[in-house]
Amino acid sequence: MIKGTTKLLGIVGYPVEHSMSPIMHNAAIAHLGVDYVYVPFPVAPDQLASAYRGFQAIGVQGFNLTIPHKQAIIPLLDNVSKLATAVGAVNTVWYSDKGWSGTNTDVAGFLAPLKDLNFPNWHEKIAVILGNGGASRAVVAGCAELGMAEIHIVGRNPQKLEEFRQSWLHSPLPIKVNVHNWQELNPLIKQADLLVNTTPVGMSPHIDRSPVDAENFEGLKSGAIAYDLIYTPRPTRFLQLAKNQGAVAIDGLEMLIQQGAAALEIWLQQPIPISVMRQSLIIDN
Ligand code: NAP
Repeated sequence: MIKGTTKLLGIVGYPVEHSMSPIMHNAAIAHLGVDYVYVPFPVAPDQLASAYRGFQAIGVQGFNLTIPHKQAIIPLLDNVSKLATAVGAVNTVWYSDKGWSGTNTDVAGFLAPLKDLNFPNWHEKIAVILGNGGASRAVVAGCAELGMAEIHIVGRNPQKLEEFRQSWLHSPLPIKVNVHNWQELNPLIKQADLLVNTTPVGMSPHIDRSPVDAENFEGLKSGAIAYDLIYTPRPTRFLQLAKNQGAVAIDGLEMLIQQGAAALEIWLQQPIPISVMRQSLIIDN
């Protein structure tokens, strides 16, 4: 129940109408019985700075950021974690006596289902990551945290690819990325132990599309992990094709849930009922 004492959390995006974060956060808040509410804040790109000042004025306790604000928020914050600096994106912000602080929980969200697999010897494994946008940066940081032997990025825009590669050269994290165009995909797939789709190709409503066609999937090692950051549909065509090759398939829903749980833990400073958050989305789907 919202009362005079209820504290505000939320998600800042544009658009934000389709976000599933309010559903899962409010489910956890209700389960814990804490005096918070989590709401969507639709904020246009040119309004971020004034919204941010307004958040301080009305005592917002913390917020998530989604497209297009994850980079734009960084220069406004008082403190940015080393991880978020390396990724170049902040998705979680909180207020304390040190002012506004930001970090990136997408990396922890991405890693959670991989850690559950107990896959051996990450330091000998090769990652092939499709796409070089914002989510790809969290995936690269996650692969580096796993200590993976090689990280390969496949992209379609040579200039953006080169900028992406260079952006990691002076990273506070020990990361070296190799960049490739899509014509190089076939030999790369044969080496991949972890193949991650960070492009929106195959996302609803274009559910018959896949960034990797059936022919290219033939080279995928049996037992490799195919991970699609997309969570609608479940599974994507990319994951269906990978499963046909004997791959272990992971979709993006668990990453979404786990990044949210990590943010809520920062705000509430108590253990989060992740199963309640998961259940709220699975029922809602
Ligand atoms: P983004 O910054 O726009 O990056 C998208 C990347 O995909 C870019 O490198 C883009 O290439 C590439 N791309 C787009 N269309 C393509 C196509 N037709 N063929 C080849 N490459 C294409 O987006 P993002 O924020 O990284 O999000 C990417 C996906 O991850 C979305 O589906 C999003 O829903 C999902 N996601 C999921 C989670 C989760 O929690 N599960 C979290 C974040 C994101 P160019 O740069 O050349 O345009």
